[in-house]
Amino acid sequence: MFSTLKAMPADPILGLLSQYRDDPRHEKIDLGVGVYKDVLGNTPILDCVKTAEQRRTATETTKVYIGPAGSSDFNRLIAELAFGEQHPTLNAGRIRSVSTPGGTGALRVAADFIKRCRPGATVWVSDPTWANHSGLFEAAGLKVERYPYYDYATKALKFDEMLAKLNTLGENDVVLLHACCHNPSGQDLSKEQWDQVVQVAVKRGFTPLIDMAYQGFGDGVEEDAYGVRKMAAAVEDMLLCSSCSKNFGLYRERIGACSIIANSSAAADVALSVLLYVVRCLYSMPPAHGAALVETILGDNQLKQQWLDELKVMRDRINGNRAILVERLKAIGVERDFSFIARQKGMFSFLGVSPEQVEQLKQEFGIYMVDSSRISIAGISDSNVDYLAKSIAKVLQ
Ligand code: PMP
Repeated sequence: MFSTLKAMPADPILGLLSQYRDDPRHEKIDLGVGVYKDVLGNTPILDCVKTAEQRRTATETTKVYIGPAGSSDFNRLIAELAFGEQHPTLNAGRIRSVSTPGGTGALRVAADFIKRCRPGATVWVSDPTWANHSGLFEAAGLKVERYPYYDYATKALKFDEMLAKLNTLGENDVVLLHACCHNPSGQDLSKEQWDQVVQVAVKRGFTPLIDMAYQGFGDGVEEDAYGVRKMAAAVEDMLLCSSCSKNFGLYRERIGACSIIANSSAAADVALSVLLYVVRCLYSMPPAHGAALVETILGDNQLKQQWLDELKVMRDRINGNRAILVERLKAIGVERDFSFIARQKGMFSFLGVSPEQVEQLKQEFGIYMVDSSRISIAGISDSNVDYLAKSIAKVLQ
């Protein structure tokens, strides 16, 4: 049976990581992998997570099954974090959430849920988008199409084209939007642009699915949720997929949430029953540990404040790295305008160099990034930014 199989292409980012690890040059830089790193290049466990973990070990009494929805406290707190405690849809009882194995699990649950709502639906993703999006929706048997988003030439949004495309969509369409820190471009919608997209969603009746994998990594926890909250207040039905991998640093614990907003509390109950059925058919129930840590942190004012402070350190470092790279490139006389990197948000930006130049950066300078020239901003540090800027300058000559 297996002899008919053809090997799948290897994950380009993991391949890059192993090449980086094997590279003996001490000045080498990894700008590939999309995880947060501190100045020393480590991805440490947050102090608030350590404290929550100690409390959890001391108080946990059972490992019995948690059920397909996961922890109800986590589900409530994560929805309040995303939508804001006083959001009208929360007050109206129109939101239901389930804990999922990471943001990826949330997206896969959303995909199967959509397939059950509207088997013929098309999911529209931004061009470009996170590499896994298409596969996740196609795995559920949904059609995936792209709407115009990032303009590689101007390093800005193709907003008019995006809006024009969204204006052609309707009830059989689901539009996937990145809440903040767009992966891979770093180019987010402004508040005014969100307002316009919300208006089009209301007018055309497509269903928004917002992927929020980086809440707090852009401008702040509240600021980054602007689009989510605006959209949720305006449309009848919506989906939100959240991840706690980056903002809580809980990558390997696999915790996220899939939330649905329905047009009434009764409709939300029906939708929840379908969500739970989908979960049972996919993985039965989510892991509990990450959810327990997040609910311990969010449910305790002091720990929550500590988390917000630690999150700010990560956010400031990323934004600082953006600014310092732009500044160094300018300072050494690079004429090309890289100021877009400082304007963009989150873990990634496209450097905007050719695949040949990406290869040259790797071969000659030991600087690793994916072929598209997407760079992981957290890989930059005070100790390597000069070398990075000079190397970029050399390949641009
Ligand atoms: N959505 C986007 C846009 C992402 O960048 C990622 C993580 N790279 C995810 C979802 C999934 O995150 P998780 O690790 O929580 O599954």
